[in-house]
Amino acid sequence: METEFPKNFDAAAQESALSRLWEENRVFEPDVQAGKKPFCIIMPPPNANDPLHVGHAMFIAIEDIFIRYHRMKGDAALWLPGTDHAGIETQFVFEKKLAKQGKSRFDFDRNTLYQMIWDYVRENSDIAVNQMKALGASADWSRFTFTLDPDIVALVLDTFEKLYKDGLVYRGERLVNYCTKCGTGYSELEVEYEERNDKLYFLKYPIKDGGEVVVATTRPETMLGDTAVAVNPKDGRFADLVGKTVLLPILNREIPIIADEMVDMAFGTGAVKITPAHDKADYETSERHTLAVIQVIGTDGRMTEEAGKFAGMKVAAARDAVMEEMGRLGLAEKIEAYTHNVGVCYRCHTVIEPLPLAQFFVKTRPLADRALKALDSKETIVLGAGREKILRDWLMNIKDWNISRQIVWGIRIPVWYDMKKNPDIVVGFLDAANALVQGPYGEISRTHDFADIERGLQFLRAPKEAEFVVSREKPKGVFLQETDSFDTWFSSGQWPAITLQTSAPGDFEYFYPTTVMETAYDILTRWVMRMMLLCIYMTGASPFQYVYLHGLVRDEKGRKMSKSIGNVVNPLDVVARYGADALRFALVMSTTPGNDSSVGEDKIRGMRNFVTKVWNASKFIDGYANKADLSNADQASGDASFKERLMSVVQDVTHHLEQLRPGQAAEIIHNEFWHWFCDEAIENVKKGNVSIGQARMGLQVFLKMLHPFMPFVTEALWQRMFRHEQEPLLARAQWPLAS
Ligand SMILES: [Zn+2]
Repeated sequence: METEFPKNFDAAAQESALSRLWEENRVFEPDVQAGKKPFCIIMPPPNANDPLHVGHAMFIAIEDIFIRYHRMKGDAALWLPGTDHAGIETQFVFEKKLAKQGKSRFDFDRNTLYQMIWDYVRENSDIAVNQMKALGASADWSRFTFTLDPDIVALVLDTFEKLYKDGLVYRGERLVNYCTKCGTGYSELEVEYEERNDKLYFLKYPIKDGGEVVVATTRPETMLGDTAVAVNPKDGRFADLVGKTVLLPILNREIPIIADEMVDMAFGTGAVKITPAHDKADYETSERHTLAVIQVIGTDGRMTEEAGKFAGMKVAAARDAVMEEMGRLGLAEKIEAYTHNVGVCYRCHTVIEPLPLAQFFVKTRPLADRALKALDSKETIVLGAGREKILRDWLMNIKDWNISRQIVWGIRIPVWYDMKKNPDIVVGFLDAANALVQGPYGEISRTHDFADIERGLQFLRAPKEAEFVVSREKPKGVFLQETDSFDTWFSSGQWPAITLQTSAPGDFEYFYPTTVMETAYDILTRWVMRMMLLCIYMTGASPFQYVYLHGLVRDEKGRKMSKSIGNVVNPLDVVARYGADALRFALVMSTTPGNDSSVGEDKIRGMRNFVTKVWNASKFIDGYANKADLSNADQASGDASFKERLMSVVQDVTHHLEQLRPGQAAEIIHNEFWHWFCDEAIENVKKGNVSIGQARMGLQVFLKMLHPFMPFVTEALWQRMFRHEQEPLLARAQWPLAS
């Protein structure tokens, strides 16, 4: 016998039981059959050890709506979940934890540090998954993948080998965006720009045979690495200076005055210093004019031996010291205020130092051309308020991709150096007393055994010309493996292909290319673009038909959520107070791709009221139907128009879901359920104008349409009212047809 219909839906008490019901019945595992249409979304992998924020809740809500809708339509719907090792972010968090214990990464050899981070991530790896389940995510957890699963890693290494064999990987000493605090190089995409009020220093450089030339710079300390002064060939002011020699102040190094089109005649005096080791444009100039590259700032953020008496100073101190010296020499002309954009680390906001470092690069041009073709042919369509153009611009102007990262937490690059052939490689390792020993291998190996170096190895820095072999196994002989690991985006950029190749036999053939890639617009170029580059290269087909970009979730005043303002909505707190259905509906209601949306407590409370409305209407119909004699009351004058209206709602909602517009679909269901079904139709039942049989059928249809949006309350009602009449689980019930 049924228990009495409870007054309210008790979300907190029922959600986990409903989740279990679905999981026990394996509802989320797709019914893969030859005749069925595949529908596949690869979940953007959250960081394995991070709690979810409201942005995650947004993607979970939208993707779950698409998946649940297609499952009910009868498609083989696969939502493939996974988590990412998030190299830099995770190592950063772990190092902060170490710092609390008075330790740092420099206290451990590479292998030990890796194992420690592995254990830490394992300890926390259920956090994200359990939270996704709490939000009702109907992902197929039996196919769960992690970016460092051995079978995933093996495929990532395959891709690197293929790129290498195809001549698309090379080792270049390039200026990399280096964060001296994080101790790693970054790609162009990871550099953020901040406007800063700095100074512009005007420095006099004496000319060897008399006179002087004044250069303007924001970074006087880098003058120690100058290897030329440049002027624009069209600049008449300097015509007779080109070809002359300057005596670089302080160091008295002779450097040429060259002419190069890149010089902006309007900047400063029109003459600029060229410091190839510490400025990207200068580096390019140095290649055109074959100038020396002299590194005066090291990876530790301090001046190098090349900086003479300033060696060992931090950059800021060296700037002051250099200016003091220039003043003493009478060579500091003036200082002006100057506002400009400065590249900073996207993680810690330290100013990025362009530094020369030997790295592995992927040649991206051929890969990008193929991705552009996929956009041209509409093999992939981007939904995101005009953001396809941004993607195209990036693809057209793409630079080679630096895939080396100086961190241990990630997939170690499968490259080995024969140390006997490469004595110049600098190694750093912890000796038996746990003290750091570093220097060129040729010197270090005279006093230390290879086995000790290998065991305590922290890092190695191989010059660009170093000979190497690509191999998964250690080659026979005195070999050390590259200590850099791949950029995290190198593995997550292969995600749709490598997850489906490892999830279950036949998945790749059946589900690839996937249907929708749904993610936040702010990682369009960091992630979506990389997936197109690599997956097309690996498989020949673009990894997804549609890219759906959701916007940022802002607070009710339209402000970005931030800890400092204190307006951060924690999705799990909201679920605990209002239920997952209310949060999901509040996030999705009226959302459109590519645009930011606002969600505050009022909106969530309003949606909790809607959940209650659905509950109360169902309770009323259930009670009324139990009292009524359905066979007699089965027809009323308003039944036909009731049905007509209902079918038109089904048609509209279905149409919007087919068009990937969950926001509009949600709006229609909400308004029609509240203002038509409850306010009009149920009133008409009471007046006898609409039969209770029709209303009960209408409720079934609404529960089905509401299910993808608010899975918990609808399933709870289905279990109470309809499970004996149709499909026992609403999650598996057939989507209503508009006829
Ligand atoms: Zn940093």
